[in-house]
Amino acid sequence: MNFIETRGNDGSRPYNVSFSQAILSPIASYGGLYVPLTLPDLGEVFLEKHSESSYKTMAMDMLLAFGIDIDKDVLYEALDLYDDFDNSTNPVPVVKVQENLFVSELYHGPTRAFKDMALQPFGVVLSSIAQKKKEKYLILAATSGDTGPAALETFKNRANVQVACLYPDGGTSDVQRLQMVTEDASNLKVIGIHGDFDDAQNALKTLLDSDTFKAKLKEDHISLSAANSVNFGRIIFQIIYHIHSYLELVRMGEVKIGEKVYLNVPSGNFGNALGGYYAMKMGLPVEKIIIASNENNVLTKLINEGKYDLRDSSVVSTTSPAMDILKSSNVERILFDMFGAARTKELMIELQDNNNYTLSKDELYTLQTVFLADFCNGDEGKKYIKEAFLKGYLMDPHTATCFKANDTCAKEGVKSIVYSTAEWTKFSPTIANALTGEADAEDITALKSIAKEANVEIPDMINALFSKEVIYDTIINKEDIEKEILSFV
Ligand SMILES: *Cc1c(COP(=O)(O)O)cnc(C)c1O
Repeated sequence: MNFIETRGNDGSRPYNVSFSQAILSPIASYGGLYVPLTLPDLGEVFLEKHSESSYKTMAMDMLLAFGIDIDKDVLYEALDLYDDFDNSTNPVPVVKVQENLFVSELYHGPTRAFKDMALQPFGVVLSSIAQKKKEKYLILAATSGDTGPAALETFKNRANVQVACLYPDGGTSDVQRLQMVTEDASNLKVIGIHGDFDDAQNALKTLLDSDTFKAKLKEDHISLSAANSVNFGRIIFQIIYHIHSYLELVRMGEVKIGEKVYLNVPSGNFGNALGGYYAMKMGLPVEKIIIASNENNVLTKLINEGKYDLRDSSVVSTTSPAMDILKSSNVERILFDMFGAARTKELMIELQDNNNYTLSKDELYTLQTVFLADFCNGDEGKKYIKEAFLKGYLMDPHTATCFKANDTCAKEGVKSIVYSTAEWTKFSPTIANALTGEADAEDITALKSIAKEANVEIPDMINALFSKEVIYDTIINKEDIEKEILSFV
């Protein structure tokens, strides 16, 4: 299968590219993104066939249906990483939490957040392409907390790949920072910067665009790449768990194949939601996709009013920080799929130039045939965390935004799959606050009080972080990032 561009072709690039090309250079003509030219049909026949399959068996069949240019043994190796999740036979458990509401837990991997679902296999795939091409890649990552640990974890000690990861000093939780600075492998570099996430992100963008930086890397025969969530190499692995979650409901006897369900996704950069959208297009019986946001509610306004408006907004810090995003990159792929390349290019230029765009009435109608949306503020989130806890379910603040959206968007009698994107251990101070009222606790204190209150164990890999040796203690100014990275490579 080949890939085409969301903003059309500028004449200087091929009209379509292979999967591995789309992975290695993810930015397309006019700053657009790569999207699959066609999608395989994975409707009821596929679902019936896999009603009793393991995650990996179904996943392999889906990947093969895509016909991507990656060797089968590499795909097997990539999917084998799911064996190391908590339950080696089922990486993504689905739990019934209340009547018609099921939580699909995407956080049972090594870094306890859903970024592992895609980045774990992606690391194997990218490294294998690099080895095959006999090229070396430097992956740059800027993180506000979850992507950094997951990227380091997947690329550590992998051949032909080095990773430099930037994080804002003081801008992540203790657990997230420790997950990065204690990760020990010679192909990794973790750099704290004085500044916030935007500073880290901007520094990264500047380097990705810098010809002199690229030229200096070329002297050492290294090419530059990024592992951000617009990379289709990550998206493809995010289609699988939507199909799996539906099949889990079938196996639980909760739905019969063909019955439609809601997919309810806590959204930031829209990668998770996009995976659900492609699954739906390929034939998964989906009623609608519910987009849950926090106070950074640009997506709620887009879906409910047809307006993407950043003119008076700046990012606000919330208790669900992985969703503190205003430019939600993967929305572009939906625009392309619904309205075509010419219109997508027009809308994206409007957003760049005027910081807003407005969909036509017909376009808004089309968007609403697939999506519903609402947002949840921090206090409401804590209320939902407490409520679910009293019914016996412990969840994180990102997941909580979906519970509100479910109350306001879902119609009665239709089942919902809510996606849980982080374990309670990653955002413990907020959860401790919701459960016991204690405020401003350090992570370690909050972890202990939740463990006691909920009678759960702190997982070993989280506990161990607090006594592990800190490998990277570099905190630098933005201006020194390039020098620091060059001396590392
Ligand atoms: C990344 C992340 C999200 C947002 O996912 P997108 O695919 O970017 O929409 C939500 N919750 C958590 C915990 C995350 O790490």
